[in-house]
Amino acid sequence: MITLRLILGDQLNPQHRWFSETADDIVYVLMEIRQETDYVLHHAQKILAIFAAMRDMARQLKERGHRVHYLTIDDVENRQSLPANIDYLIAHYQASGFEYQAPDEWRLDQQLYEHGRRTALAWVMVDSEHFYTTRSEAAEIFTGRRQWLMEYFYRQMRVRHHILMADAAKPAGGQWNYDHDNRKPWRGTPPEPVDARICHDHSALWHAIVAAGVQSFGNPQAHQLAWALNRAEALQQLDAFIEQALPHFGDFQDAMNSHAWRLFHSLLSFALNVKMLNPREVVGKAEAAYRSGHASLAAVEGFIRQILGWREYVRGVYWTNMPDYGQHNVFGHSNGLPAWFWTGQTKMRCLSHAIGQSLEQAHAHHIQRLMVIGNFALLAGLDPHALHCWYLGVYIDAFEWVEMPNTLGMSQFADGGLLATKPYVSSAAYIDRMSDYCKGCHYDKKARLGERACPYNALYWDFFYRNADRLANNPRIGMVYRQLDKMDAESIEGFSARAQMLRANLDQL
Ligand code: FAD
Repeated sequence: MITLRLILGDQLNPQHRWFSETADDIVYVLMEIRQETDYVLHHAQKILAIFAAMRDMARQLKERGHRVHYLTIDDVENRQSLPANIDYLIAHYQASGFEYQAPDEWRLDQQLYEHGRRTALAWVMVDSEHFYTTRSEAAEIFTGRRQWLMEYFYRQMRVRHHILMADAAKPAGGQWNYDHDNRKPWRGTPPEPVDARICHDHSALWHAIVAAGVQSFGNPQAHQLAWALNRAEALQQLDAFIEQALPHFGDFQDAMNSHAWRLFHSLLSFALNVKMLNPREVVGKAEAAYRSGHASLAAVEGFIRQILGWREYVRGVYWTNMPDYGQHNVFGHSNGLPAWFWTGQTKMRCLSHAIGQSLEQAHAHHIQRLMVIGNFALLAGLDPHALHCWYLGVYIDAFEWVEMPNTLGMSQFADGGLLATKPYVSSAAYIDRMSDYCKGCHYDKKARLGERACPYNALYWDFFYRNADRLANNPRIGMVYRQLDKMDAESIEGFSARAQMLRANLDQL
């Protein structure tokens, strides 16, 4: 009797215990389906990179002696949905059992659970063996606590997993967090490391995707796609990052530059999120770089905090709050996305760069996502759900469990402060300090009023003014309200009128 084992497109971990032995009565199933290409409009590179990596995973499994059934996007037997394909394969193999790894997205978890309830087959979900934490562990850690502070969670993780510790209770170096050291702008030195990622020509696959009628946006870069195809390539990318970029990661973590899109970031989120890499090995190699003296504690702690802290924490926020989390919209924002979100063609140089780069590379780093694009979206009152769909579509690493809390919680404060302790917004001054974007911009970074005044400025003051009821008592933003208190009625009227005009004419900016 045959057991089918499903491998989803973000479960490409060849080290999973499933694969430790071969067996003739087990068939591994991978499928390229319209259900997954179409649930939002996706960047071309995201579809291409996932399908290419799935095909490579199937190749690896076959080489290791496993039985594999792969449904390509243009296979005539492909029903294009998960339940319909599962039913077809169960009938085809007369299967007696169906197994799958715990999905990371709520919609797939529900779909598979519901389908299982309706069948008489042995239906088994197993661990994906990827994360440090279970789905409910963050909720357990925060039991009885009013606020879900990431820092509290992160310290628990450091202790539990004995990472960057001096002893069982004390952090290495005597300090838990070096965030304050990690805020330098980048002025051209040290040079950005070369992009050592391996490129592949996926033109044939791209042709098949287009011929199947899949819609997408962004540059496919099909003949030279640089996202890791498999674990071997991801490990090579990890080693290159540790060697060349990690020592500078901390210093320039928040920097942005129009001539250097990667700076010292790892670009490992795709390989991590599709599980080619395990977070433990990434964290382990980073810690070893500190222990050997290759990288400073501030750099390594800053990097490890993102993976051991933020990544696990947002996953906990997601699983504790789904399915309602996606509905949050505490400010009631409803403006549609400006048309230039799909072209990058705006006169605001920072947004033109950050969005243009996202369309070109399917990637932007954290501060571009948070303090340029997300910042503008919140100030301009864009509909958080529409924004969530854009982020979920555009980035190579976007899977709902990690994208949604980052977009709705961290960047839009749409959950009213469940995740972030304050809204991450700024005027032009922050963007100017951390980047070269304002140089040569059509708009004047210093001006608040007038046609050439940078839109961020009036929108920033107007945002806090409009939302005083909700935000004025937040101790982390008391300074803003003290400044607003000192402003005269004419100034307030001025920025309010300009902000209103800007919000009504977003396509023209
Ligand atoms: P690095 O800067 O090299 O960081 C190392 C790793 O840390 C990343 O690969 C990632 O796995 C992890 N990490 C860093 N920051 C976060 C974070 N805030 N939450 C979770 N993990 C983090 N990350 C995604 O993986 N998928 C998303 O869909 C996603 N959407 C985002 C949307 C918004 C609005 C914001 C503000 C952030 C989002 N992030 C997302 C987090 C972060 O921007 C990306 O993880 C990072 O830019 C990926 O590039 P990198 O691999 O070079 O990261």
